[in-house]
Amino acid sequence: MTEHVFSSYRDLPVETVHLLRGALDVLDEAIIVADQAGRIVAWNKTAARLAGVPIDAPLEAWAEAFGIFLPDERTTCPPDTVPLWRALQGERVDGVELYVRNTRAPKGIHVVVSARPILGEQGRVRGGICIFYDATSARLAKEALGHAEARLRAIVANTPNVAIEGYDVQGRVLYWNRAAERLFGWSEDEVVGRTLDGVILDESSTRRFVETLEEIARTGHPNGPNEWSCRRKDGSQVWVYTTIFSIPTITGACEFVCMDVDVTPLKHAENRIREQARLMEVQAIDNANLFHEALEAISARDDFLAVASHELRTPLTPLKLQLERLVRDARAGASQERMAPALEVAYRQVGRLAALIDRLLDVSRITAGKLDLCLDEVDLCALVHDVVTRFSREAEEAGCQLSFHHDKPILGKWDRLRLEQVVTNLLGNAIKYGRGKPIEIELDADEGTARLMVRDHGVGIAPEDQGKIFERFERAVSNQSFGGLGLGLWIVRQIVDTHGGTVRVESAPGVGSTFRVELPRWRKTQGESEGPRAMTQGA
Ligand code: ADP
Repeated sequence: MTEHVFSSYRDLPVETVHLLRGALDVLDEAIIVADQAGRIVAWNKTAARLAGVPIDAPLEAWAEAFGIFLPDERTTCPPDTVPLWRALQGERVDGVELYVRNTRAPKGIHVVVSARPILGEQGRVRGGICIFYDATSARLAKEALGHAEARLRAIVANTPNVAIEGYDVQGRVLYWNRAAERLFGWSEDEVVGRTLDGVILDESSTRRFVETLEEIARTGHPNGPNEWSCRRKDGSQVWVYTTIFSIPTITGACEFVCMDVDVTPLKHAENRIREQARLMEVQAIDNANLFHEALEAISARDDFLAVASHELRTPLTPLKLQLERLVRDARAGASQERMAPALEVAYRQVGRLAALIDRLLDVSRITAGKLDLCLDEVDLCALVHDVVTRFSREAEEAGCQLSFHHDKPILGKWDRLRLEQVVTNLLGNAIKYGRGKPIEIELDADEGTARLMVRDHGVGIAPEDQGKIFERFERAVSNQSFGGLGLGLWIVRQIVDTHGGTVRVESAPGVGSTFRVELPRWRKTQGESEGPRAMTQGA
């Protein structure tokens, strides 16, 4: 190194000057100093190794003499951009990247150069200094890093079927690969910088997402795979199986990577299977119910057959006895007077048998929907009067006083025989279940509706039984106490329903029962012009 560098330190002891030279020579940075005229006047060992100074070339030829190129390694550095030259013009130059290839460094090196003017009194430029270092390995490392990153980005961008997205700690999108574009319908340009609220998540899911990121940042543990329900840009729903993890960045901030696999088809299949399982369960319950109902129907039928055979046998026994007696009397040539009471009893039992058989026939007809109504103008008052008269003897025998005082005609369009059946069944029950007590029958009508009431003061019906007594074979009493098929009220309801009317009961156990029937008087029935209306099962 020449004396010029330390000219201002002229008075320094020689030892100190050597020390300073030695210090400059051990630096990894190269130092070159030029005077005001552009002559290189000082340099350290690193500069000699990298640049091959000293050099005897004018300032303008430095680039070629030193082999200075731009970073592209081909273009010679223009003379007026050489940092030391710029420093001599009074400029401060920092961190300029250049390439040097010369006999000292035939393979070429990349250098980073800074330069400063050296100022004298009154701020005049007296010279310049440039400092540079070999940045080849740093550049190679940076290039390698760049390549690795580019490779990674290419893999991320092109990974099919896995949506990969990057997020910052606030949950803002940093990148969004093509699979994510395809899956969610949003392009990367549309979403980068945005949070997911209103993009693919709703407000609460976005909150959950950001909380998940915060937890990953706190614990360092990845999250998932977990199922997330998202919306596509077109509003349709999409289910993804998501894993989220964090990766460190150069700045030290956390970056999160989210990998989503579309499980929507699986989810739909799962829902279909669930729905099928639910339907099968419902079907199984229905079948079990049907099976239960069938068992109940079989049991009801068995009960009915037992009761029906008992009921049919009841009048047969006295009938047989009376007929045997009559046969004996006839053979013995008995008088008519003697035979008359037995004949009367036999006649009554035959009537009872016929009524029972009629009732059974009605059931099968109604059930098969074959019972027809023959509508005609009928006087309800006269009809009830007839039935009451017919029952007078039976009522007397049962100790029931019948009271019926209505005498004004109540006309309507009804099926006479069926209405007789209604009154007969109600009055018959009142006598059967109200023995020894009076029975009131009342009629009433306004323009459109006729009303019949049959009240007894007998055993009554418990509230829980009142709803079911109008059903087929349903009874609220034991067979031992009262005979019966459990069909009378069911037939009443079928007939009244078919006339467009209603029947209901008010009753209390031990107090008695009141049955009320309401019938529309002139209702036009469906298909009336084509003849009587077919009677159907049920209400
Ligand atoms: P049955 O009289 O042949 O049993 P019904 O269908 O006529 O059949 O009546 C069904 C049930 O309703 C009867 O078994 C009885 O328990 C109850 N019931 C009907 N009428 C009366 C009434 N007037 N008083 C008390 N219970 C009655």
